[in-house]
Amino acid sequence: MEDLTSSVNSLRQKYRDIFKISSIEIQKRVDELKPAEGLDIFDDYPTGSSGRLWQENVLKMFDKDICYEIFRKWNEILAYRKEFSCSGCGTCCKLACSEFSVEKLKLKEKNGDSFAKQFLSVFVPYNSKEDARKVYPEYIKLLEDNKEDEVYFYHCPKLLDCNKCSDYENRPQICRDFPDNPLSILPKSCGYSKWKEEVEPIALMLHSMMEIIQYYKEHINASINRT
Ligand code: SF4
Ligand code: SF4
Repeated sequence: MEDLTSSVNSLRQKYRDIFKISSIEIQKRVDELKPAEGLDIFDDYPTGSSGRLWQENVLKMFDKDICYEIFRKWNEILAYRKEFSCSGCGTCCKLACSEFSVEKLKLKEKNGDSFAKQFLSVFVPYNSKEDARKVYPEYIKLLEDNKEDEVYFYHCPKLLDCNKCSDYENRPQICRDFPDNPLSILPKSCGYSKWKEEVEPIALMLHSMMEIIQYYKEHINASINRT
């Protein structure tokens, strides 16, 4: 059976393949709006020129057309998640990871970050990585193999020994929404694994499109701001 490291590596390869396809498709859409051969979308064009108009039309097409469609499909994926349910393995309550230490999270909370606020209302830090390793050793090994040192491990003290939530009715939104991204790593025991497996290809495609569009937008806007 495929271990976690191989399945993540295979996911990365799939993403690279899908990324190439999405790049070609988006490039086609950009070129369809090109007013004349020989123009480059990232060049600098004066206001009112056909090149500038092209850049503006591409930005509009991204927002009104492609981003709208990505948003719609992503919401469909999340709605489909409701067809599946938690199997009560308790892993996501016993092990939550963050790139932020508890001190950083508190600072973010103080600055109005609502996710940090919710996270801190649920999770407390583990005393050591070794304690976290006992919950999901494969995952910790994966982080180590990828040299992802800046990861902090947390757990929820409200989880009972029987893996049931002691405050289930009042659990916060982040618990109700988990997993909110099919590209997250889920333990095999998770009741949403099947959902992840089914929607992963489309989620990879949508993610690659968002990344490519972000690149286009940043570079087109930089060009517009220069001229
Ligand atoms: S509040 Fe309940 S559901 Fe949320 S992490 Fe804690 S034990 Fe799990
Ligand atoms: S990892 Fe999945 S199945 Fe396990 S407790 Fe969390 S949501 Fe439920």
